[in-house]
Amino acid sequence: MTRFLFLFILLTASGWGWGREGHALIGVIAERHLNPVARAAVGELLEPGETLASIGSWADAVRGERRETSTWHYINLPVSASRGDWRGFCPDAGCVVSIIPEMTARLRNPSLSRLERGEALKFLAHFVGDLHQPLHVADKGDRGGNDVPVVFLDRPANLHSIWDTPILMWMLENDDGLRERLTRRVGLWERRKLAGGTLDDWAWEAHAISRDVAYRRLPQGTPMVLGADYASHAAPAVEIQLQRAGLRLARILNEVFPAKP
Ligand SMILES: [Zn+2]
Repeated sequence: MTRFLFLFILLTASGWGWGREGHALIGVIAERHLNPVARAAVGELLEPGETLASIGSWADAVRGERRETSTWHYINLPVSASRGDWRGFCPDAGCVVSIIPEMTARLRNPSLSRLERGEALKFLAHFVGDLHQPLHVADKGDRGGNDVPVVFLDRPANLHSIWDTPILMWMLENDDGLRERLTRRVGLWERRKLAGGTLDDWAWEAHAISRDVAYRRLPQGTPMVLGADYASHAAPAVEIQLQRAGLRLARILNEVFPAKP
C-alpha cells in the first residue's frame, strides 16, 4: 500500500512543482503567519472548507485544461548564469518570476470579481511555492533536471521530480521533528530575516541552491543512482526553501491585506 501510494505521488507530482505535500506545508506555514485582516480576506476568497494548504496544488490540477498557465510554473535560468536580469529567460507567456507580481496585482484589484481574485490567490499561493523549488528556477539544458534519469532509493525517477516530492517524503519519514519545525510560529525578527529580500533575490537564491546543492555531488552514470546520502545532502536546502516559501507567501498576503493600525 505504502509503495503504491509512493509511486502514485511520484507519478502525479512529476515535473509539476513541489508535490502535494510540499505545497500543503507551505500553505500551513503561510496561514500561521497571516495578520487578522489577511486571514479574513483569504477566508472570503476561498470556498468554505478550503485553506491555503488545501488549495496549494490547485494550479497543478488545472494545468491540463488551462494551457496558458503551463509556463508559469518555472523559469529556465541556466545553472551557469550569474545573477542578472531574468527577463531574457522568461517567455512572453510568463514564467514563475513574472507571474507572482501579476497575480498579486490581480488579488489587489477591486474591479475584479471575487471569483477572479480567488483564482489569483490560488495561483499566487502555488507559484510562490514553485519559485522555491530550486529545479524550477535553473536548467542545465535538461529542462530543470526532467531529462536526467535517476534511481532514487531504488525507484526510477528523474532529478527534477525527486526534488518535488520523494526527497521531502524521505525527510518526513526520517526526521520526526521536521513537520513541527516547519509549521511552528516564527517570531517577528526571524521572520523578517527569512521572508526579507525582493522577488529577484528569491529567484537567484533558488538558482544558487540548484547550482550548489541539486546539481552538485551527482554521480556519473545513466541513470544516476542516488540514495540516502544525496537526500541528506539536499535536506537542509529543502527545509529552508519550504519555510521561506511559506513565510514569504504570508508576507505578500500581509502586504496586500495590511492589518488595521
Ligand atoms: Zn507548479
